[in-house]
Amino acid sequence: MQVMKFGGTSVGNAERIAELARIVKEAYTTDKQIAVVVSAMSGVTNQLLASAHDAAKGKMDTAIAARAALADKHRTAITTLVPDVSEQEKLFAEIDSLLDHFGKLCYGMHILGEVPIRALDAIAGSGERLSARIVAATLRAQGLRSRAIDATELVVTDDNFGDATPDMIETTLNVKARLMPLLKEGVVPVVTGYIGATKDGVMTTLGRGGSDYSGGIFGAALMADQVIIWTDVNGFMTADPNTVKNARTIPEISYSEAAELSYYGAKVLHPKTLLPLAPAKIPLYIKNSFQPDHPGTRISSQSGEWDADLKAITSIKNISLVTISGSGMMGVPGIAAKTFSAVATQNINVLMISQSSSENNLCFIVNTPEAERTKTALRKALEVEFHHRHIEHIVAQDGIAIIAAVGEKMKGVPGIAARVFSAVAEAGVNVIAIAQGSSELNISFVIGEKDIAQAVAAMHERFNLGRAE
Ligand code: ADP
Ligand code: ASP
Ligand code: MG
Repeated sequence: MQVMKFGGTSVGNAERIAELARIVKEAYTTDKQIAVVVSAMSGVTNQLLASAHDAAKGKMDTAIAARAALADKHRTAITTLVPDVSEQEKLFAEIDSLLDHFGKLCYGMHILGEVPIRALDAIAGSGERLSARIVAATLRAQGLRSRAIDATELVVTDDNFGDATPDMIETTLNVKARLMPLLKEGVVPVVTGYIGATKDGVMTTLGRGGSDYSGGIFGAALMADQVIIWTDVNGFMTADPNTVKNARTIPEISYSEAAELSYYGAKVLHPKTLLPLAPAKIPLYIKNSFQPDHPGTRISSQSGEWDADLKAITSIKNISLVTISGSGMMGVPGIAAKTFSAVATQNINVLMISQSSSENNLCFIVNTPEAERTKTALRKALEVEFHHRHIEHIVAQDGIAIIAAVGEKMKGVPGIAARVFSAVAEAGVNVIAIAQGSSELNISFVIGEKDIAQAVAAMHERFNLGRAE
């Protein structure tokens, strides 16, 4: 039994969906139990979210144009992929009803002049509900038995809208009750990625890029033999192939290495995907739907054979460095504790922490959209320290990036950090901060956003990560 997750570009148009069907059909000849998880067609989620935000700002035009464009995009796919006219009519009606709902929610936001988070999730997840219906119909048109299922019926989450966490016990019970009988009959369920619902049935989303995570959730709930993430590159690579042209595929990588890389910006895999899979030792493959015969990457407990001292280099941008400083900070206990409990209470994600040995400053990284909220929370939590002038400044610096170098060999090979920082220095890149107490398979540090390409290229070169030209 296996789970196959197809990302946005792999369901991006009729041609891509036809290829998806070919891939599933071929796998079906040897494995009759395949659950498919789909993303929205590429670009759709962005369009939906932009419509909602613009509507709240008084601009309904975006939503009106998006509704027409989305109807056209999905209708075109249906007419190309589903020859049966009555099937087509049924799908058109379903698409129209989902888009009507989207239009009404946007109009509601227009009237309110704000974006309620639960309504935003209802809008954000519509893309997957549209694509799943078309993919299931295509599989049926190709002679397989298939049914579209909304994950709102399966994945039970908390109410942290926009970044909800699944309850794996409830979810597993639902998945077993709903999907197992279908799989046993040889029916291919096509489930929406990215979405779930609270216990009360209110739709939630798992965070941007969260369809990978859905793949992991279903893989674990079904105790699948494997999960395959079908995307638009040849697996996990030594760097983002869009930034480093000679990046090469890593054939095998461990759960921990892959988790670090995705956490530090490798968009090819959502950072939470492996959480449910690693304890169950279910292997995850990343493969290219544009080149299905390429072996891609296998992610499992094994790190595998590899000829270089590092596996890959990643970067994250759109982050801010928050610095708390003051000459009186030295020796005052509890500032770090107060700081991090204040950000935790606000549900703000801290990506990296660093403290200089002088003890008169404490820095950490948050996502830029959360920087203002972080400063406000800290000013409140550290009011007494400000009053006593133990703390003088809380500032957030934008326009920076985290670079991470990852590989399990780091544990045994001395001098890797020295090689990383000399490569970066020789490229003329200034290092702003270094992570403290990072795991032994990761070196991470902060540089200016404008320096990402040079720093990554220099490290990639120094560690011989690229393809021989
Ligand atoms: P999907 O829509 O299939 O989920 P994504 O766009 O989310 O695809 O992720 C695939 C993209 O991740 C690739 O096109 C690539 O640009 C980017 N990427 C970033 N870092 C890496 C990496 N180390 N290896 C492979 N791809 C990467
Ligand atoms: N469609 C969602 C997004 O764009 C989820 C995903 O593609 O993984 O974020
Ligand atoms: Mg993705």
